[in-house]
Amino acid sequence: MFGLMQDWPLLVHKIIDHAALYHGDREVVTRSVEGPIHRTNYREIRRRAARVSSALEKIGVDSGNRVATLGSNTWRHLESWYGIAGMGGVYHTLNPRLFADQIVYIANHAEDRVLFFDPTFTSLVGEIAPRLKTVTHFIAFADRAPQANFGHIVAYEDFIATGDENYIWKEFDEHSACGLCYTSGTTGNPKGVLYSHRSNVLHAFMACQPDAMGMRNADTVLPVAPMYHANAWAIAFLAPMTGAKLVMPGPKLDGASVYELLDGEKVTLTAAVPTVWLSLLHYLEETGKALPHLKRVLIGGSACPRTIIESFEMKYDVDVVHAWGMTEMSPLGTLGSLTAAVAELSQEEKIAHKMKQGHPLFGVEMKIVDDTDGELPRDGKAFGKLKVRGPAVAKGYFRGEGEHAFDREGWFDTGDVATLGADGYMTITDRAKDVIKSGGEWISSIEIENIAVGHKAVAEAAVIGISHPKWDERPLLIVMLKPGQTATKAEMLQFLEGKIAKWWMPDDVVFANEIPHTATGKIQKTVLRERYGGHRPLSG
Ligand code: AMP
Repeated sequence: MFGLMQDWPLLVHKIIDHAALYHGDREVVTRSVEGPIHRTNYREIRRRAARVSSALEKIGVDSGNRVATLGSNTWRHLESWYGIAGMGGVYHTLNPRLFADQIVYIANHAEDRVLFFDPTFTSLVGEIAPRLKTVTHFIAFADRAPQANFGHIVAYEDFIATGDENYIWKEFDEHSACGLCYTSGTTGNPKGVLYSHRSNVLHAFMACQPDAMGMRNADTVLPVAPMYHANAWAIAFLAPMTGAKLVMPGPKLDGASVYELLDGEKVTLTAAVPTVWLSLLHYLEETGKALPHLKRVLIGGSACPRTIIESFEMKYDVDVVHAWGMTEMSPLGTLGSLTAAVAELSQEEKIAHKMKQGHPLFGVEMKIVDDTDGELPRDGKAFGKLKVRGPAVAKGYFRGEGEHAFDREGWFDTGDVATLGADGYMTITDRAKDVIKSGGEWISSIEIENIAVGHKAVAEAAVIGISHPKWDERPLLIVMLKPGQTATKAEMLQFLEGKIAKWWMPDDVVFANEIPHTATGKIQKTVLRERYGGHRPLSG
């Protein structure tokens, strides 16, 4: 017997309908690509998104067609997403930090029909345009089309002027594709994650839970996490769903610019990768400024060092929610809001728990397995490959690539190595590819990095395995110092002493001018292994 409740397809554009109807005056503020602050609201965003839908149909875009965006977080980018989704198209975010060749590969693989782009990326688009096989329309997110010598560029404002603001959204199956985002895989070609309307809406519900992002109407939210990094971590859907005021940072993500928005717009909730927060905290240190409005900061994308957590919580009175997720998970998997039991513990214990990656959301199943796929105990000690499943987790990549990551029971192998505690907390020890195997035992590079970055002279730290004749691999600590600061190998090793097991102690320390990052802000271990993999400690 079936229940007698209505079928109300979970379609993403219903979110912006809700926002326009019930939170129509709520502000959406952007630091525009051109520089000045731009202000609009959800009613306007909805109205102009309808124009995008209509205009796309007029140029022949059809249901299921991919429409690419190459842009920072702005109100126009947001409108384009809802407009693409509302006519049955698939928004496809391209990451402008990727190399031109990768963007070309991804856009051709996705068979994008249209490309919306920030005018700041005009020369990049000019470089790739001749190699894009399927893109027929180039639309600049601007009032006026930039001067360029490729294709026919239309200004976004002219484009949407051709559309009808009374356009009626299409109704279709909630399982229809809605968005596409390629993962920045470190090996092989990038792989496409194809979100459905249903997965995006369910994920927004999941992310909204109080112990997850806990976003409320009264919040002012700044997603520093870009829309091209896994849906701005759901905020592009969550903020209109709750009617929170939305502050879009545009292209400037340095400490001073982020601070200006946090302060000027009285932001209460924000989200970004640790490198953004390191830059903000340095800025605060230098200027002596404070964060009187900010209540909660979501930190994820790579492991959050202890110093960041301590600074936010103890110096600036901001609650840190450490989050773990993946593009393949829409992206949220676990969040580190404190459970009732942990909230009773000492400050030191609470910080220790915040360093873990947190508790799974309802809607995310997790297990850890060994090399033969046998499930390992949830005892906080055993670590193994982390597998996940749920309604907002990918069941395959676009065009059937990377099949080995998905098993018959629907589990997706995250490529991360983790422990699961009896108390429900998950801790990532490494990417499977980055684990250091020393004498048959595993050393967590993440844990050493997190401690090393706590040294007052250190701006960033990375740990990789270097080969060793006896132990197979040993850790090498690579340190980038803060400008004007000095430290020696002996000082660094002394700083780690007593904080990690003796046999985890790096065999050597090298000081580097830069630590390379991927397009989504992660330390690029592949590059470090190329640079330093052959390093041999003088004593060894
Ligand atoms: P992406 O799909 O680009 O967001 O990358 C997902 C990967 O980033 C995960 O599989 C993890 O390896 C890493 N990651 C994300 N969040 C965290 C975190 N809080 N701690 C450690 N690693 C993380």
